[in-house]
Amino acid sequence: MKLLLVEDEKRMAQALSELLKQEHYEVDTCADGFSGLETAERNLYDVIILDVMLPGMNGFEIAKSLRRKKIRTPILMLTAKSELEDTVTGLDSGADDYLTKPFMAEELFARLRALCRRNLPSDDESLSFGDISLDTHTASLSCTATAKSVRLSEKEYRILNYFIANQKQILTREQLAVKIWGFDSDAEYNNVEVYLSFTRRKLAFVGAKTTIKALRGIGYELRCEDV
Ligand code: CA
Repeated sequence: MKLLLVEDEKRMAQALSELLKQEHYEVDTCADGFSGLETAERNLYDVIILDVMLPGMNGFEIAKSLRRKKIRTPILMLTAKSELEDTVTGLDSGADDYLTKPFMAEELFARLRALCRRNLPSDDESLSFGDISLDTHTASLSCTATAKSVRLSEKEYRILNYFIANQKQILTREQLAVKIWGFDSDAEYNNVEVYLSFTRRKLAFVGAKTTIKALRGIGYELRCEDV
């Protein structure tokens, strides 16, 4: 699981980052609002942890900007006790949860586990990319150019849903294993490959130009060659 921590207090950032690494999270850190936003846009994270008061751009502004750009990564806000009314603003700006400083490490881990589980796109919208669209009620895939459609298995549906929700991002095999199967292990990695090939076949079946490209040694990306 990969986290982005945006926190300007050096000692706090270092202590948190060490704690999280001990819990086997991969952690990137940023010390100001602008680099936090840029890093959050450029990479795929399982959860983004935002301090509220940051130089450059505050945590609320970062959250708002990410949501405007349809980046739906769960956001955990860190607020000081004195900024408790900030909590409401925080949730309003698109944050998913908040934690008031100071907090216990266990509390942070619990919130992170809950947010990681929640990080699947919501089912209440129609999802589309390039020449394909997913019907979230019937779990079917259609190609807008050929008007052909096909039912997807649960895993195929979740795979495409996850790719569409994170379009223009490269997803690793590990991220897919965690998101679709719930944990990662060598067995799940093999499943990822198998289900990706099933999903590609369904895309070909409806005549879509959209496909899941493998980028050797990096991961996978949803691409539509000529739209
Ligand atoms: Ca701060």
